[in-house]
Parts: sequence; structure tokens; C-alpha cells
Amino acid sequence: MGKARSRSAARRGDASSHFYTLVDKELRRARAKHPKAFNSEPEGWAVIQEELDEYRDALRARHGGPKATCIAELVETAAMCRRAFEDLYQVVPGRCQKCGCTDNTPCVGAFGEGCGWANRSQTLCTACVQPEPRRRRRR
Ligand SMILES: [Zn+2]
Ligand SMILES: [Zn+2]
Repeated sequence: MGKARSRSAARRGDASSHFYTLVDKELRRARAKHPKAFNSEPEGWAVIQEELDEYRDALRARHGGPKATCIAELVETAAMCRRAFEDLYQVVPGRCQKCGCTDNTPCVGAFGEGCGWANRSQTLCTACVQPEPRRRRRR
């Protein structure tokens, strides 16, 4: 069981911890590993579905053995549901509402330039702002 010790609490399926604590830890781990936010509902759905499939596989493989893997997969599924909620429906300062970019994962333009914030509340990036031809003044 020495191997299991190096894994995260969620991976160990530590049922003594509060569920939300495990989900919180798992989501932070996942965001560190894959910083780019979900930028569409189908993408979020596909990731949740993948985790749910892994939970089903864990249930099938268990045969009455330890529940650790099942708990870990359940937590991962919940973490991805929460991520979909946060990335797709929650307006958070520091994350573009349209594309999901952040200071750590900016959009990269055609010339390798990063995006900036288009508004004070930092919920919309410059890459997502449509150029406004009306602003051009005719002489
Ligand atoms: Zn954006
Ligand atoms: Zn951006």
C-alpha cells in the first residue's frame, strides 16, 4: 500500500474527509494540470461523461474490494461538474466570460501576442472584444 500514500486524498478515496474538501482538492489539482477553462458546454459535458465512465468502470472492477477507487472517481466526476459550473456559468473577475482565458492562460494572437483585459472588472479580454467600425470617424 506504500504506493497509494503518494497519491492525493481524492485518489486514495479518503472517506474520512468531507466530500466537498475532496472535490475542492481534486479541482485544484485538475486546474493546475489543465489550466485552460472549459470554453463550451459540449466540452464540459464530454469531460464529465469521461469521469462518469471511469466511475462505472471502477464499480464494475471492484467485486466487493476496497471502495477507494470508486470514491476517487466519484470525486473526480463531481470536481468536473463543479468546473463546468464555474467555467461556463459563473462570472468571476480574472477570467474572460467569453473564452475562459485568465492571466495565467491568456489568448495568443496571430503574432504571439497575449490578450489583456478589456474591462475594469476583468471579465472580458481584448481578444474577445469585437472591433467596432463605428468608432472610426469619417473626415
Ligand atoms: Zn476572451
Ligand atoms: Zn483572452
